[in-house]
Amino acid sequence: MGNITVALKDGDSVEVPKSTTAGEVIRELLSNKQRKNCVAVEIDGQIVDLVTPLDDDVTFTPVLMNSEEGLAVLRHSTAHVMAQAVQDIFGKEVKVAIGPAIENGFYYDFYREEPFSPADFEKIEQRMTEIVRSGESFSRTLMSKQEALTKFESEGEKYKVELIEDLGEETVSLYSHSDFSDLCRGPHLPNTSYIKAFKLLRVAGAYWRGDEKRDVLQRIYGTAFFDAKALKKHLNALEEAKKRDHRKLGKELGLFTIQDQIGPGLILWQPKGAQLRRLIEDYWKDEHYKHDYELLYTPHIARQDLWKTSGHLDFYSENMYKAMDIDDVQYQLKPMNCPFHVGVYNSEKRSYRDFPIRWCELGTVYRYERAGALHGLLRVRGFTQDDAHIFCRPDQLNDEIYNILELNLHILENFGFKEFDVYLSTRPEKYVGTDHNWEQATEALKKALDRKGLGFTIDPGEGVFYGPKIDIKIKDQLGRSWQCSTIQVDFNLPERFDISYTGSDNTEHQPIMIHRALMGSLERFIGVLIEHYAGVFPLWFAPVQARILNITDDQIEYVEEVYATLRRAGLRIEKDIRNEKLNYKIREAQVAKICQRCLLQNLLKK
Ligand SMILES: [Zn+2]
Ligand SMILES: [Zn+2]
Repeated sequence: MGNITVALKDGDSVEVPKSTTAGEVIRELLSNKQRKNCVAVEIDGQIVDLVTPLDDDVTFTPVLMNSEEGLAVLRHSTAHVMAQAVQDIFGKEVKVAIGPAIENGFYYDFYREEPFSPADFEKIEQRMTEIVRSGESFSRTLMSKQEALTKFESEGEKYKVELIEDLGEETVSLYSHSDFSDLCRGPHLPNTSYIKAFKLLRVAGAYWRGDEKRDVLQRIYGTAFFDAKALKKHLNALEEAKKRDHRKLGKELGLFTIQDQIGPGLILWQPKGAQLRRLIEDYWKDEHYKHDYELLYTPHIARQDLWKTSGHLDFYSENMYKAMDIDDVQYQLKPMNCPFHVGVYNSEKRSYRDFPIRWCELGTVYRYERAGALHGLLRVRGFTQDDAHIFCRPDQLNDEIYNILELNLHILENFGFKEFDVYLSTRPEKYVGTDHNWEQATEALKKALDRKGLGFTIDPGEGVFYGPKIDIKIKDQLGRSWQCSTIQVDFNLPERFDISYTGSDNTEHQPIMIHRALMGSLERFIGVLIEHYAGVFPLWFAPVQARILNITDDQIEYVEEVYATLRRAGLRIEKDIRNEKLNYKIREAQVAKICQRCLLQNLLKK
């Protein structure tokens, strides 16, 4: 048999006989407490079960309970337990599809004629508790593709059959616990008793393989934790998030509406939402003016040829809407503003003295999103990017990136965001531009981040094919992260459009182009703002700053006078002169989340 050496990453090592399992090894290498906390191990970036036999010398990292990876293993295992519970209760007529761990929980997709109801959840949870208590071990079996096909065919599990048929490998792995087994890569917990706290949350329709033409399955979502306290904390946060849901508040506060008759993913801004948006846009434009940007406006459609030259038809066509015919020429809606800004660049001859050129635009773009992926203001089909393009010389790149970062954080901080997760994405496998350019641009992004004192994570190989980028996520009041800003260096578009400037040496050079969006899109950003502030916006961008109420009809005239004066002074004022009790009116104004700071009182004192 022979021995192998197993080492902890940055720790002890031990010599054990070949085929010793990872779990047996950790018993030797970890302290008792650590061992109880360990649910799997990571070997060469892959997480494997504790029951995995080790055949070669390896170095591993223990996967601990409260790590992200540990929670994912727990949740995936809980999904299997839920699937077993569902089939135990509702019979094998219920077909199982897939059941992965996802952010903050897990789901499993089932095919069942009747819909699952909240009352079913209770039954399922009860059965799950029984399975958890029984402490059934999860075991892994390898079998040939054919064997697995025979097994699932005989059980009528047609979705599993389809999955196996599509698998490239000749051997597949199954995970079983109790009498339930599932086609699965794993990894899983050692046994079900590790599952200490779980909850089923909701059920939603989901197409098999995300394909609108296939079966509609029922997706049951749930979550799981290693202790009851953590679960409770999470459920409270979910409750709070529900109260802050921008779709709910958007309706209650009269901010925006989405209607079938108009089309999914298309936003109608109601007066208060439009006011909110106007305030944000004005602020944005003023800040850009102060930071030496110039404003552009560009059209919504362009000749198809433009999108050929820009490369969008080759690389981005699945996100674009079909062409329309205008005077026998094909036109297409814009998914991005960039080629238009290149058009403005080309409207004049440029010299090295003109740089940097900073052009910004609140540019409305249209992108195809699957109907199932649409979500309030967060995922839409038409949206307005707070876009900008900077054209500069290579020697200006460092300062320009730094300036963008400065303006970026300044604006986000003014909106009340204080915590950021920053990512730097580097060169992917397929790329355009020279290695020298990539190094220089990546270095510029790094330097700017360092100079700004921003900690960042490197996403190796995650840059766009045309250049490296910085992505910034913002954290909201509930600690949730939202993808927000992006800053991208581009070597591709200047090349494709063959744009140039005359250098100090009197010859033609290619400028560097930087794309950036600070808020991402107005729709998405406002959606996040609504949830961040739970609809109670700071005074400076609250769509209504105050509402004037009268006590009796005797003050109507005075209310009108005050209303007109304040409105003319530029304040965002409403009046309520209905013949209702004062308390009732106050209550209604509170529900409308009208800023309750004493603006009006202060003004009247003057
Ligand atoms: Zn699985
Ligand atoms: Zn762009």
